Amino acid sequence: MNIIRIPVLNDNYIFLLHDRDSNTVAVVDPAVAKPVLAKIKELDAKLVAIFNTHHHSDHIGGNKELLKHFPEAVVYGGKEDKGRIPQQKYFLTEGDVVEFAGRKANVYFVPGHTKAHIAYYFPSVEDTQSGELFCGDTLFAGGCGRLFEGTPTQMVDSLTKLRNLPDSTRVWCAHEYTLSNLKFALTVDVDNQELQKRFRQVTLEREKYIPTVPSTIKVEKLTNPFLRWDSSGIKSSMALEEPARVFGRLRGMKDNF
Ligand code: ZN
Ligand code: FE
Repeated sequence: MNIIRIPVLNDNYIFLLHDRDSNTVAVVDPAVAKPVLAKIKELDAKLVAIFNTHHHSDHIGGNKELLKHFPEAVVYGGKEDKGRIPQQKYFLTEGDVVEFAGRKANVYFVPGHTKAHIAYYFPSVEDTQSGELFCGDTLFAGGCGRLFEGTPTQMVDSLTKLRNLPDSTRVWCAHEYTLSNLKFALTVDVDNQELQKRFRQVTLEREKYIPTVPSTIKVEKLTNPFLRWDSSGIKSSMALEEPARVFGRLRGMKDNF
């Protein structure tokens, strides 16, 4: 399974999963259809599945148009998103398994950004230490999604599920927000050397417009303050202990950063 990243709109990423053997394609969070159709044409492939993480327009905007061209493609989304995702056929929840081209993906229910948000995790077929995580707007490189329809407690639970994935898991988040996320991170995790190193690296990458997605779970655990509510540095800078309260204060500060 080859993963192709398509940058669209201001800062969104659409991900195309391409299986060379069957020459089929699945797409994760198609904000728009045009560049996806162009890429599929270039590959001379066929679209069989749309994996939506949540109902926001910058994640589903291309569904309708893609289905016009590929009426047999199947739309997956969260159970709680019923009525909010165009042409949704499957209503997924925690523990469900979906398949693309013989590869299985585990579904995680990760509410917080929205009440229905799900993530798709394709474990590696070669080893148990890696995989591909498509987490929409729940976990970002260096940050996390805003709490539009959920609580800090829910988001901590959701992020805990993702944090428990293997270290080498690649994190394919839906936005290129990394540099601004890390600027905020530096203000709340001041003694974190790994974070400082990452900030320097990402600054250089973004000067050349190099994408910083995918990241890995390992890097996120070391440098993303929204996965570090139980680290001594974050706890002391928030002057709080309890995970949901630490997280809530952190999220509130980021909202106003
Ligand atoms: Zn969103
Ligand atoms: Fe988004």
